[in-house]
Amino acid sequence: MIKRIKPLGWLVVCSLVVFVICIPFLFFSHASHASKQITHKMRENHQLPKDFISNEELPDTPGMFLQTELINEDTYSSIIRYPYTKIESIDAKILEWITQEKERFVNDLTNEDDHVTAHLTIQFDIHTLTNAIYNLTATAERSFGEEKTINKTSFTVDLSNKRQVLIDDFILNSSNSSFKEFIDQEIHTIIEDETVIQQFMNDSLLESIDQLNWGLTKEDFIVYPKNPVSTERIMQLPIEQMAQFIQDQWLETFNLTDEIDLREKKRQEAKEIVTTPDVHKDPDGKYIALTFDDGPHPDVTPRILETLDIYDAKATFFMLGLQVEKHPDVAAEVARRGHEIANHSQTHKDLTTLNQDQLMNEIQGSNQLIHQITGQKPILYRPPYGSYNEHIKQIIQQNGLSIMLWSVDSLDWKNRNQQTITSTVTAEATVDSTILMHDIHPTTADALPNIVKQLSDDGYEFVTVSELLAIQDERHKSEAF
Ligand code: ZN
Repeated sequence: MIKRIKPLGWLVVCSLVVFVICIPFLFFSHASHASKQITHKMRENHQLPKDFISNEELPDTPGMFLQTELINEDTYSSIIRYPYTKIESIDAKILEWITQEKERFVNDLTNEDDHVTAHLTIQFDIHTLTNAIYNLTATAERSFGEEKTINKTSFTVDLSNKRQVLIDDFILNSSNSSFKEFIDQEIHTIIEDETVIQQFMNDSLLESIDQLNWGLTKEDFIVYPKNPVSTERIMQLPIEQMAQFIQDQWLETFNLTDEIDLREKKRQEAKEIVTTPDVHKDPDGKYIALTFDDGPHPDVTPRILETLDIYDAKATFFMLGLQVEKHPDVAAEVARRGHEIANHSQTHKDLTTLNQDQLMNEIQGSNQLIHQITGQKPILYRPPYGSYNEHIKQIIQQNGLSIMLWSVDSLDWKNRNQQTITSTVTAEATVDSTILMHDIHPTTADALPNIVKQLSDDGYEFVTVSELLAIQDERHKSEAF
């Protein structure tokens, strides 16, 4: 356990490149003539004039360059050294933050009396995560006489993909409440003082994890205070303690071999569960097939799985290849719990508008993905919007799939209301119904417990579509005799 808040000086310990600020004196004479007029003008415009600009490439971090701005005025001085990448989308984000810090400084300067010595320092530390991914930790330190405030943030940048890494790119299902709860709990464990906790997070953080001010080193996930504070405070969570939340592609970067093995094992287990239709069901029983389209979804699908488990109900999930790719663990979990996985295309386009290549991708592409990730080879295909023609039907069948639509539309996509969805489904469901729902709307997950409860009170059992088809087959056979 090395979780802690360090009040000062952690920068030195973990950074690979530290920009030592030691040369402001060289430039004193250069700027000493700067007049109050400029300062006033600058204050009005909320802009700092650039006094000195240089740039050089950083030898230890390929692709990163360094820029320096030095300003010396009668009333203030400022040193800003920042990295840039020559990738516009990344550099714009860094500059945006710097501009905001400058403006904050200038605003406060306007309110100070002229005799106070004011100074702004902005510097960055670079942590190498891979040979193309760096974490740039920014520190803005403002002092007015004795008074000092520090503001920190960081930018994780992926130079090979030319983009900033956002929390969604790093954390599995970051919108999921379990990660928010984890962060909240960790912060409360480490810090007991409520006012300090408030500095790190507020209610809006629990609404949206996008608000988290976070960064990374090779060892730690770091949370910075949301707003400027008077002493330097950060919260370090060892990466290995949060391995379960980290996306697959990062596990190797942080050497999380146990987690890699664990996930591999889970996937193997999922593949070993073969969902053969249960033909031993009583053909005279009352069966319903619940179907869920457009997922898997990181929040809604797990909630639906929980409800289904409670009632020992099996369902069929018509997944989109795109979503399976985004949330492979959720897709694998659906299979692991013994539900049927079927194909609902790759990207949810109307198949009748596509050319042959696109059509193949919408059928074969998602089939391969689903098979690869869940171990199930779909045998059912539900065209988006139920839209297809004879040609499309032939191609679908040539790919070993049968078209499967629905008999009851829950209209959950339209009526995002728990009661309405429940009453629509329970009013229309009957023996052998195939019910269309979507595991992407929270209201559907809200409605499901009531739907399943009412229908099972009415004597229905919930089976997969393939099981329902097998049961119908059995019934026809026994009728024929
Ligand atoms: Zn759909």
